[in-house]
Amino acid sequence: MELANFRFDVDADGVALATWDMADRSMNVITPQVMEDLGRIVDEVAGDAAIKGCVITSGKESFSGGADLTMLQGLGLAYAQLAKQQGEEAAMRFFFDESRKLSLLYRRLETCGKPFAAAINGVCLGGAFELALACHYRVASDDKATRVGLPEVKVGLFPGAGGAQRVARLMPTGDALQMLFKGEQIRPAAAKSMNLVQEAAPRAEIVAKAKAWILGGGKAQAPWDAEGYRLPSNKVYSPQGMMIWPAANAIYRRETQDNYPAIKAVLHAVYEGLQLPMDLALKVESRYFANILRSPQAAAMIRTLFVSMQELNKGARRPAGVPASVIRKVGVIGAGFMGASVAYVTANAGIEVVLIDRDQEAADKGKAHSHKLMTDQIMKGRAKTADRDALLARITATPDYAALADCDLVIEAVFEDPRVKAEVIAKAEAAMRPDAIFGSNTSTLPITGLAGHAQRPNQFVGIHFFSPVEKMLLVEVILAKQTGDKALAVALDYVRAIRKTPIVVNDARGFYANRCVGNYLREGHLMLMEGVPPAMIENVARMAGMPVGPLSLNDEVAIDLALKIVKATKAQLGDAAVDPVQEKLLVEMVEKQGRLGRKNGKGFYDYPEKGQKSLWPGLKDIAGQRLDPDALDVEELKQRFLVTQALEAARSVEEGIVTDPREADVGSIIGFGFAPYTGGTLSYIDGMGAKAFVALCEKLAARHGPRFEPNALLRDMAAKGETFYGRAAGAKRAA
Ligand code: NAD
Repeated sequence: MELANFRFDVDADGVALATWDMADRSMNVITPQVMEDLGRIVDEVAGDAAIKGCVITSGKESFSGGADLTMLQGLGLAYAQLAKQQGEEAAMRFFFDESRKLSLLYRRLETCGKPFAAAINGVCLGGAFELALACHYRVASDDKATRVGLPEVKVGLFPGAGGAQRVARLMPTGDALQMLFKGEQIRPAAAKSMNLVQEAAPRAEIVAKAKAWILGGGKAQAPWDAEGYRLPSNKVYSPQGMMIWPAANAIYRRETQDNYPAIKAVLHAVYEGLQLPMDLALKVESRYFANILRSPQAAAMIRTLFVSMQELNKGARRPAGVPASVIRKVGVIGAGFMGASVAYVTANAGIEVVLIDRDQEAADKGKAHSHKLMTDQIMKGRAKTADRDALLARITATPDYAALADCDLVIEAVFEDPRVKAEVIAKAEAAMRPDAIFGSNTSTLPITGLAGHAQRPNQFVGIHFFSPVEKMLLVEVILAKQTGDKALAVALDYVRAIRKTPIVVNDARGFYANRCVGNYLREGHLMLMEGVPPAMIENVARMAGMPVGPLSLNDEVAIDLALKIVKATKAQLGDAAVDPVQEKLLVEMVEKQGRLGRKNGKGFYDYPEKGQKSLWPGLKDIAGQRLDPDALDVEELKQRFLVTQALEAARSVEEGIVTDPREADVGSIIGFGFAPYTGGTLSYIDGMGAKAFVALCEKLAARHGPRFEPNALLRDMAAKGETFYGRAAGAKRAA
């Protein structure tokens, strides 16, 4: 049998092995051609009496990441075109048929009469795991790299090729809904205890085990197709079902604030599907899936969180012509809060680290942070003692700058003081190789100014991490006026090596992310002073789609830091650059009340030693007045939070700080949690159209002041009917 993407062999025992191994791709993905191949495999296995059954595995390091999302993106575009040409109904019919093909194919495999087993090596996600779920038996490799899961909700979709129905029939409804809502990746041992796979075994044995199951008389029937099958949580309309479904609805609301239609759709699909026989249930699931695939939220999330993110990770902004750099050794100067974590993530990527501080004790303290993080991993069973030893052996803690001699890159994370930085730059450069690159992790000092202290300013670049470094995926790479291509390339290669996502921005106060975050915090502060009840501020922010309310967030980053930034802005840019109401609040909190945030147990919240934090009751005296919550316009409060950030992003584009809409969008979601369902700050504007956004800004400006005035770029775009992505594509064509 000729297949483009699989090898197909039948062994002497009559068991077929289909090995998925796509040419020219490092990872298998589901494409129309793969679907065609799978269809032929099913026909062959079902039709040849000499074949007893079939094992599906992968010839790559991983099983597969799932469907080719650009294929799904293309389907959405085809729908829009067809709707224009032949009308909504014809387009919808086409779309439904197309988007259900995979679901039908998997059902055909499941009911073809011959047993299928999946031998899952490595990562197996999304549509690929749905394939495994359609197989009658699953064996996963039990190594560290293996993960199974259905992460579709993370890009605004849900598992619509039968995954939702099968998971809901394999495990208790509550657990299934949680898995579908969260889209988490699951390790092999957990997958086994959740009944998602039947066996977990060493990688070298999984194919043999799958074959043994077939030869041992493995049944070619899914449990739900067998006589007498009972749902794990009983019927929807049963006392047990009624314990689950009303609560499920509430959990949906709590987790999503009703911002994610895909999650609502999966809730519907499971609720309705569990009341139907499998084939009808799959049809219902397909109908919801076709609707979700056409939703603006899915389009925005696929573009930003999959397509753009992948492009940035692959070096979309890397200067052409600079050969790839191999980063073997990195120096980190300043072993404090940030430096210690930068050392950890670097060593964790297998890179040698020299960690420098003012004395041996301080350097050792920074290294101890890696010891603690690795110990936590060991306690969770995610690392072995040998892994910790190996990682620690890669970090040399010392006060001696001479150790920087053979570093390819040196990053400073010393005190935020220009004089200290200047001294450190001079000392480091004297010790470094002449071709090595210097990066600064400053969050507020202009990179161009710091580069002025360097002997080799073209080898100087900003590498701005976000806290906590171990968790935050975003790194802003900041170009000083003098930064050369090699410095940029090395910075991007480094960010890639430590498996984070870079955005490249030009030098300006606050760069990009912190400017937007600053506006978010300010809006929360101003609402507080207007008399909006604090709990309402926090809740409305989450309803708008932000992961944490502005008051909580400010407590985490420290209120005195916010005050410091406001004061520095005033000193540098004049009184008009800060909002006096915000300043008054921050002065009151920090200087009069001594409330600095979580770090001293007192901020906008109180942090008791035991128990949960709660909003500080004294806030009402600071605000002076309290508005009636029932008289407030919740929709407008939500808009204020998103508009203030999106407007700042638009200003960053106008000022040339951010030059690529993909970076503004990706950076906003992974950097500061900007409502992911919008696709990011600029997609939020593009989604409603510049004209509507400008009108919204003007309405807010009239009610709340000039901070909401739209900038000239937005007015111009509104007049011309332009979008940020349209302009970027136009600029690319012109170049
Ligand atoms: P920190 O005070 O925790 O750490 C600074 C470290 O630098 C200290 O260990 C100190 O001993 C060391 N140091 C000072 N002078 C030195 C010298 N001459 N030689 C060697 N070591 C020296 O500060 P931090 O919060 O880690 O911030 C460090 C840098 O990172 C600052 O530029 C800050 O703006 C930036 N940053 C901080 C955050 C954050 O959330 N804290 C986020 C992004 C960037």
